[in-house]
Amino acid sequence: MPFELPTLPYAYDALEPHYDARTVEIHHSKHHATYTANFNKALEGQTALAGKTAEEILRNLDAVPQAIRQTVINMGGGYVNHNLFWETIGPNCGGTPGGKIGEAIKAAFGSFDAFKDQFSKASATFFGSGWTFLGLDQQKKLHICALPNQDSPLSIGHTPILTLDVWEHAYYLKFQNRRPEWIAAWWNVVNWRRVDELYQAAMK
Ligand code: MN
Repeated sequence: MPFELPTLPYAYDALEPHYDARTVEIHHSKHHATYTANFNKALEGQTALAGKTAEEILRNLDAVPQAIRQTVINMGGGYVNHNLFWETIGPNCGGTPGGKIGEAIKAAFGSFDAFKDQFSKASATFFGSGWTFLGLDQQKKLHICALPNQDSPLSIGHTPILTLDVWEHAYYLKFQNRRPEWIAAWWNVVNWRRVDELYQAAMK
């Protein structure tokens, strides 16, 4: 069963003025679509992996044949990272998280502002292409981790619940080289209600 590019639950221009329509459209319909297509291509004929979810495949890379493992890391990671990215942003979002995730962030980082500062710094100073994640580690401890390329936290036993794309393709059309401006804009579209749901599901 090939994996499908998810349809966004909002229009391409719905995240304006924080995230511009042209970048959202190209990011989703070209970049994310290409990861999806190449992930499916890599899995062609891999009957042992058929029926597994993308998350299951990335959680157990040892079960992926050596010949396609790096392609699965790159393309499968690109597929699931972008799924989470789109899922955890939306229109009329941003602000300060409530719910269980709001409490958990305060407990783990001291305050929401301290968390935001730490996450922004990790994103701004990360060298090269990659992603910043908020997620649970193997001990279910909430933490921030930045990973290069399209590496997935799932492959190191973590469960990501929020992610920021710091590849240039995510922001270059509008922000060019100004990654800190992209990071500042992205906070305005974070869908904390969805992040709270993912947090509570991961804690079960
Ligand atoms: Mn991207």
